[in-house]
Amino acid sequence: MKMFTPEKLCHQKKSEDHQTRVAIGSSVLVGGSDIVVVAGPCAVESEDQMTQIAQTLTRLNIRCLRGGIFKPRSSPYSFQGLGESGLALFSRIKEKYALAIITEVMSEAQIEPLSLVVDCFQVGSRNMQNFELLKALGKTQKPILLKRGMAATLEEFLLAAEYILAAGNPNVILCERGIRSFDPMTRNVLDLGAVALLKQMTHLPVLVDPSHATGQRSLIAPTAKAAIAVGADGLLIETHPNPDQSVSDAAQTISLEDLSILMPELEAIAHAVGRSLVCDTSPASRNVSMLNTQMAVGLPCS
Ligand code: PEP
Ligand code: MN
Repeated sequence: MKMFTPEKLCHQKKSEDHQTRVAIGSSVLVGGSDIVVVAGPCAVESEDQMTQIAQTLTRLNIRCLRGGIFKPRSSPYSFQGLGESGLALFSRIKEKYALAIITEVMSEAQIEPLSLVVDCFQVGSRNMQNFELLKALGKTQKPILLKRGMAATLEEFLLAAEYILAAGNPNVILCERGIRSFDPMTRNVLDLGAVALLKQMTHLPVLVDPSHATGQRSLIAPTAKAAIAVGADGLLIETHPNPDQSVSDAAQTISLEDLSILMPELEAIAHAVGRSLVCDTSPASRNVSMLNTQMAVGLPCS
């Protein structure tokens, strides 16, 4: 007997340009003509760190702050995140800077407490096939940023998204974050072909995380630009006021100054592919970038 297999919700493109748009908070729309930049530290560490980041994001017109308070670390002896105590910090930052907050959720039990503050849940690479978690998130209406498992095929990735959609939550954003290969020189392999293919296969928005994909801060700018060029709807970039002091993922984390330099460059690529990315190019903002460039290339600073 032939089994009935329903057409997958993630594949149901009503027309070639059918595109789901996912709202995060009240001022961010992923999947529209605007490229959405999400930035923040790998791990939330302190009030001072988060305040400096929030101030820079606000100045650059980045509306989405992402940071981990529950961290999926490879070693149980590494910093595991501030846990629920990080929520109060998120709350204060959100109120003061009106930023949308994204953070990783690792278990069903964390959904309820995080829901009070968080605007979008990240499901990390390691939990992409935690089906009970996906089903539970499918019962909420919160946007879900679903990262591709580091060894997941595209079919497995889309089926993971399908778990959330089938449980009743249409607000899924896919995120390509690199897949494991044989060369550790780049932490992972950024699968840009997959981004282009996902844009053809599904109506769900697709973000790219160049930070985890490359593992090296010098590779963030070129791969972020390439991601926009192949059709990504946005980027997830790890940033920190003092990247070398970052408690996790320091090598791939860029400074706030480098983020300020990158934004206008991304804006130019977005325009070249018919998208928009609104960043602050005011003289004050440019001066910070200029100063930083001069220092980086060893020019005297005027
Ligand atoms: C993260 O976003 O900090 C993270 C741990 O990412 P991934 O799940 O892609 O490894
Ligand atoms: Mn990280």
